Amino acid sequence: MATKFDVIVIGAGPAGYHAAIRAAQLGLRTACVEKWLGSDDKPVLGGTCLNVGCIPSKTLLDASHKFIDAKNNFAEIGIISDGLEINVPQMMARKNKVVDNLTKGVAGLFKANGVTVFEGSAVLHAGRSVEITSHKGDKALLQADHIVIATGSVPVEIPPCPLTDGLIVDSTGALELDAVPQKLGVIGAGVIGLELGSVWNRLGSEVIVLEALEEFLPFADRQVVREALKQLKKQGMDIRLGTRVTGSEVKGKKVKVLYSDAEGDKSETFDKLVVAVGRKPYTQDLLAADSGVALDERGFIYVNDLCSTDAPGVYAVGDVVRGPMLAHKGMEEGIMVAERIAGQKPMVNYDCVPAVVYTHPEIAWVGKSEQELKADGETYVVGSFPMAASGRALAANDAVGLIKVIADKETDRILGVHMIGAHASELIAEAVIAMEFGASAEDLSLTMFAHPTLSEGLHEAALAVSGRAIHVANRKRKK
Ligand code: FAD
Ligand code: AMP
Repeated sequence: MATKFDVIVIGAGPAGYHAAIRAAQLGLRTACVEKWLGSDDKPVLGGTCLNVGCIPSKTLLDASHKFIDAKNNFAEIGIISDGLEINVPQMMARKNKVVDNLTKGVAGLFKANGVTVFEGSAVLHAGRSVEITSHKGDKALLQADHIVIATGSVPVEIPPCPLTDGLIVDSTGALELDAVPQKLGVIGAGVIGLELGSVWNRLGSEVIVLEALEEFLPFADRQVVREALKQLKKQGMDIRLGTRVTGSEVKGKKVKVLYSDAEGDKSETFDKLVVAVGRKPYTQDLLAADSGVALDERGFIYVNDLCSTDAPGVYAVGDVVRGPMLAHKGMEEGIMVAERIAGQKPMVNYDCVPAVVYTHPEIAWVGKSEQELKADGETYVVGSFPMAASGRALAANDAVGLIKVIADKETDRILGVHMIGAHASELIAEAVIAMEFGASAEDLSLTMFAHPTLSEGLHEAALAVSGRAIHVANRKRKK
């Protein structure tokens, strides 16, 4: 006999755990199935994001930024920081502690909200029945009125560079190196490649990033990307665009990478190689032949705008469905689905999903870029503000980058905001809120921002849309 629930969530990553907690808050009898095993082979919640994604990467990015800031910039501001050293095992131990804290936090929230956890792998059958096989091989059968699939994604592997233990690694391996490699190769200048490359570059590795495309971060604004390339190169990251990796040869404790660029075939030898060429949806062994859930041509679970699959009462959220593979996008989808199951009518606004690259300076954007608007034939006006003119950024000795507001030429409605600079990950929230409320550039211009703050840069960029910025030289100033 199957144990009956109102909602069964498969996967306890950010998309799944948000769905499960919200469903339970709304009084639905909720179960969540999770198969992840931690490094100690004990089951853990939190999925990619908490265990091997957002949280450990940001922990190492913050730690390595503190180190490089102290090394390069403290003397200028009058702090003597001679004798700085890195303790990689301690850095990793602290990162693991942060992860442990947060994954246990999810377990605590499940308990507090009455979500029943099942440890093991789930298979979805017809009639919304879920078969679970625990790590010990025990079987359980559950059934629910509603199923939420949140099985996430896994790193893409490429045939030229098969992973080898500790030498050719994916993003997970790059978060666990026990020493600073002298020379580190990164394949892929996507968000993950740039972030992980930054960590090890700051800690002392010579980092070479090999990227097949002539351009990187295709969804970011080109002006912002040019500034990012300039800043990352200045930090010592050797980013080689138009460089396709074609093979690799493991030679003792080193790996020789073969690649081709406009000049022909070349090679580089590294102490470690990180393969960061993207992620793919994960549905392995999940769907029984009679589940009724269909995949699209790229292997994502096919869903409509409300995250309903082709099978009645079965929803899918997060990285396993279309859209940007971002934790917060999955969280909002999870909450929307839970609330819809409970009879409410929320929707996810896919036009307002913020994107952040946690390099230094940080890169963040929401809405459309100039290149997208041009391609769509839209007319728009741009207002931008250089962070070099921000009093607060100068006070913090961190004044590189810019903020750019793009508004509709006719209506002045904000169509996109793009930024590169310190704390852009936090500043972008202001732009998201403005766009969520359908604000015009004038609305932001008429809003009062505290001084001195980095946020004033957004205010000035909005003012610049109508030529009214105060802190940038502009001869065509409006009266
Ligand atoms: P996941 O987090 O992948 O969780 C899916 C869960 O489902 C897993 O725990 C898995 O074990 C479980 N599961 C799968 N199949 C089954 C099954 N059959 N039975 C039971 N359980 C199953 N995103 C951001 O927004 N910001 C960032 O800064 C950021 N940084 C990142 C850094 C790195 C290095 C990486 C790799 C990713 C990063 N991401 C970031 C992406 C983010 O981690 C994902 O978008 C997010 O984790 C997706 O959430 P999810 O719940 O859809 O899936
Ligand atoms: P993302 O999908 O944003 O994580 O980025 C992954 C990046 O890896 C993309 O920009 C791809 O162009 C790049 N990439 C994929 N395969 C290769 C390869 N064989 N050599 C170099 N770069 C690659």
